[in-house]
Amino acid sequence: MPGGIQLQISGAAQPAGLSTLFFVELWERFSYYGMRAILVFFMVAPVAEGGLGFSTVQAALFYGNYTMAVYLLALPGGFIADRFIGARNAVLIGGVIIALGHFALAAGGMPAFYAGVVLVSLGTGLFKPSISAMVGELYEADDPRRDAGFTYFYMGVNIGGLLAPLVTGFLAQSAAFKGWLASLGFDPATTWHWGFAAAGVGMTIALGIFMARTSKFAGLGDAPSVRATGWLEVTAMFVATAGLLALLLVSDQPGLEWLRYLLIIVPLAAIAFFSRREDLEAGRIAAIFVFFVAAMVFWSAFEQAGLSIALFSDRLTDNVLFGWAIPSAWYQSLNPMFVILLGPLFIVLWTALGVRQPTTPVKFAMALGLLAASFLVMVPAALSTAAVPASPLWLVVYFLLITMGELCLSPVGLSAMTKLAPPRLVGLMLGVWFLAAAFGNKLAGVFGTGFTSDDPAGLASYFASFAAFGGAAALAMLALTPWLKRQMAGVR
Ligand code: GLN
Repeated sequence: MPGGIQLQISGAAQPAGLSTLFFVELWERFSYYGMRAILVFFMVAPVAEGGLGFSTVQAALFYGNYTMAVYLLALPGGFIADRFIGARNAVLIGGVIIALGHFALAAGGMPAFYAGVVLVSLGTGLFKPSISAMVGELYEADDPRRDAGFTYFYMGVNIGGLLAPLVTGFLAQSAAFKGWLASLGFDPATTWHWGFAAAGVGMTIALGIFMARTSKFAGLGDAPSVRATGWLEVTAMFVATAGLLALLLVSDQPGLEWLRYLLIIVPLAAIAFFSRREDLEAGRIAAIFVFFVAAMVFWSAFEQAGLSIALFSDRLTDNVLFGWAIPSAWYQSLNPMFVILLGPLFIVLWTALGVRQPTTPVKFAMALGLLAASFLVMVPAALSTAAVPASPLWLVVYFLLITMGELCLSPVGLSAMTKLAPPRLVGLMLGVWFLAAAFGNKLAGVFGTGFTSDDPAGLASYFASFAAFGGAAALAMLALTPWLKRQMAGVR
């Protein structure tokens, strides 16, 4: 996520607070991705096996709504931190709420499940923008160590994301753990809840580290000394987020699906509004909303990792390795693993290319092209399941390609937001960036409803439609590049 990954790593010592923030975020992401890795499997598992017995369609829509809420709430969450309680308190309070949420998921029962989902969304909304803001605050504006610091932080995110599915997948899905539970007299159908509990433990570790090292943060993420926020602004923020969230949630109701057009109307209206104005600031904001649409398209496909790609790995892939059935959640470790392996290579590549490196619009087009390529790989993978379960290698190649795309888009996009936004609006534009992720996740849920596991040809055309969507978006991005360059006025 952070902006500096494509920039040079400096060898200079980092500020004392960074290692603490690194480990806190590592464990928070452990909890989030640990939960995400088993969520869809838990939802579609039959009630007799401890699951919720949802249909694929119900599970996909639920996943889209939940992960949309997580990112959408970063907008009011960041606002509350900036204007009222400060980032440090927001991390602490958000962290407690997240931990309670995972433990609610661990408790079992429908009311606890819904409570857990609401708590994780609210807590992450407070936590995620605030911890990133605290990393930023470690540095003066022109500190050359800033980009390297964000790169380390991004590694923390992905180490958490790599370890988590291994742990929660083992607990929730493996025969070994089920057998062990049964031998102790526990019901093996409760393994899902052990997985969610592990996520809760991860978040508790994050909180423990944060509180034990709180002295490191004196003066960092303080609450603002003057509270100059008018009630009108507060009301506008809450009405806008609650309204958007509510409209997108009810858009799943039969007859109200047209409300989903908001996902495209909102950014297009912003582009139209800002590109009509003459000034430089407005032109750059228009460019930001073009990147918004591209990012939304990207996340809508990328988030299939926890949805249709996860179901493919579970139902249609040959998961027996050396006689041992691998928990299908483990495939979700491939994306963070490739980020850790390839991230440094991208840094070296962009640094070596210097001013000759592709501009932001071209990197976005590359990301969308790689997305198309990754889903193209899933076409023969789907067809192969007509005869035998698919080889795990398809998914390895899929995750390799889509992760290369992520590295062309996610850090580059964040960096572009901070460069294109007028200085007084940087925080808001980062909120807009997370809003693109929220819209993308919602769309991921809607698209996920098309998944099918008993029709190889149908599944192949399902994956092909993602490839076509990504490819078309890549071409559109390339076509818009000259216009975007003018709008960006000097920013690359
Ligand atoms: N994988 C990154 C993180 O969890 C980026 C997520 C996003 O921006 N959608 O921090």
